[in-house]
Amino acid sequence: MSGYFPILRQRVRKRTFRSLFLFVTSRCNSLCRTCFYFDKLNSKDDLTFDQIRRISETAPPFEKLWLSGGEPFLRDELPEIVALFTRNNRVANINLPTNGLLQERIFRSVDRMLALAPNVSIDLNFSLDGLANTHDAIRGVPNNFRRTLETIREAEKRYANVPRLRRNVLTVITRENYNEIVELGLRLAAEAKLSGQYFEIVRGETPDADLKRLQREDVAALHRRLMPFHRHYARRLFAHLPPGVRQFATMYYLGNLRFHFDLHESCLEQPRKWPMPCTAGETTIVIDHNGRFRACEMREIVGNLADYEFDIPAALASAAMRDEVEAIRNANCWCTHSCFIQESSKFSPRVQLFTIPWAWLRQRRQKLPEMPLRDIERFRALETV
Ligand code: SF4
Ligand code: SF4
Repeated sequence: MSGYFPILRQRVRKRTFRSLFLFVTSRCNSLCRTCFYFDKLNSKDDLTFDQIRRISETAPPFEKLWLSGGEPFLRDELPEIVALFTRNNRVANINLPTNGLLQERIFRSVDRMLALAPNVSIDLNFSLDGLANTHDAIRGVPNNFRRTLETIREAEKRYANVPRLRRNVLTVITRENYNEIVELGLRLAAEAKLSGQYFEIVRGETPDADLKRLQREDVAALHRRLMPFHRHYARRLFAHLPPGVRQFATMYYLGNLRFHFDLHESCLEQPRKWPMPCTAGETTIVIDHNGRFRACEMREIVGNLADYEFDIPAALASAAMRDEVEAIRNANCWCTHSCFIQESSKFSPRVQLFTIPWAWLRQRRQKLPEMPLRDIERFRALETV
């Protein structure tokens, strides 16, 4: 039974501060047309290390640190920042996106992070937004696809025996790439020993608004084709667990991902209420590279941490943040942002105990849409690995 308890404990919990979204730098070496932060990139007002230390020292213990930027690996003290939060705040998991371009810098930083933070689990998420030409065109960097894939392959060799470092790919679905995401997934599943591949819908104010012109039915059909990838990676992720616990963990993993897809589809074209309240600004806070803070990445700035002596509990308790939380509640706010769907769903017993298990059952019954025989065979191979 002991294997079930941590999974169950994760399911139902009190609404307390759980996650920090920290933009560790505004510096970036990409030019993504999908970037909702593009107008703030490469400014010269990044938080200093001492200010980040103060944020960590005043914050209560919390579970998850979502790092962001800019390209996080352009921040020289990245390993020391991770160590601060694992030491002072007992953070258990770090989510770390990267464009994968700076191989040497990434490995130097990850090696140091693993040494300085010996107990934390790290999700290292490489961005791949299509096959080579599409990826490079979306991200504005020649040979980006080739360079990122090389980094992924090298990471596989280097960290194969470090299970607490999960190597994932994150793919942003846009109008330009949705037709080749399945092919990308099939190639990655066959060639790169990843821990997972995850899919987000392009969101926010992007430099190229055309990328956001997606039809709900196209996205829904794509999602049905993407569930086999999640099943493939779930088998790998939970292979070490005893059979009963493995099935339980798999159910929540797949149910959760299907539930995210459901909300991505229902909120794609119009506001549609989530089945749980969004807890942004209560259980999470977003801190921009310069110390401005927000309830979530999609909403406006609420204040400047400098006015609260870089003290997160003071910022969360401020009148401005309380007003923002009230506004979110009254607006029945909605979006397709998986990080916040994930964070908010953790505080809804109904979603955890009914909606997610039901989503797991539904995905088991879902048939793949029509596709060429050759692809069907490749999918069958995927379902058995
Ligand atoms: S999406 Fe990320 S990698 Fe791309 S420009 Fe924006 S911050 Fe840089
Ligand atoms: S629903 Fe989305 S946009 Fe609204 S507050 Fe929550 S995370 Fe932000």
